[in-house]
Amino acid sequence: MALKTGKETREKCPVCGKPVSAEARPFCSSRCRDVDLNRWLSGGYRIETDEEPKEGDPENNSNNP
Ligand SMILES: [Zn+2]
Repeated sequence: MALKTGKETREKCPVCGKPVSAEARPFCSSRCRDVDLNRWLSGGYRIETDEEPKEGDPENNSNNP
C-alpha cells in the first residue's frame, strides 16, 4: 500500500528506453513526454475500447428540465 517516493526507479522511458526521471514520469524527460504526446495526437497510438463513438454527453439529457 505504501507508495515509494525514491528518486531512483526501475521504470524505463517508453520512448527511448532510458531510466525514467521522477520529475518526468513515466518518461525520462519532458522531451520524451512531448514525443509521446505527439504520437497520440498524430494517431500513432490507438485506444482499445468497446464503446461506440457517441455524439454529445448523455448526462446533458438528464439535466434538461
Ligand atoms: Zn526518453
